[in-house]
Amino acid sequence: MIATEEKNDVAPVCPHCKTELRLVWFQELLAFLGKRYIYFCPDCRSVLGVSHRKGFWMG
Ligand SMILES: [Zn+2]
Repeated sequence: MIATEEKNDVAPVCPHCKTELRLVWFQELLAFLGKRYIYFCPDCRSVLGVSHRKGFWMG
């Protein structure tokens, strides 16, 4: 088991371009079973993840 800890004083880093993520862009996807959100890096536009609900990155 790995414990989790909230950490707000450092920014996550994009796994593709290594830029610090102070902002994450998202687009809404129209999926058959409802809305999906695709999150991507504003710097290199690499996809970071897909979520079925808004606010995934904010918890
Ligand atoms: Zn990037």
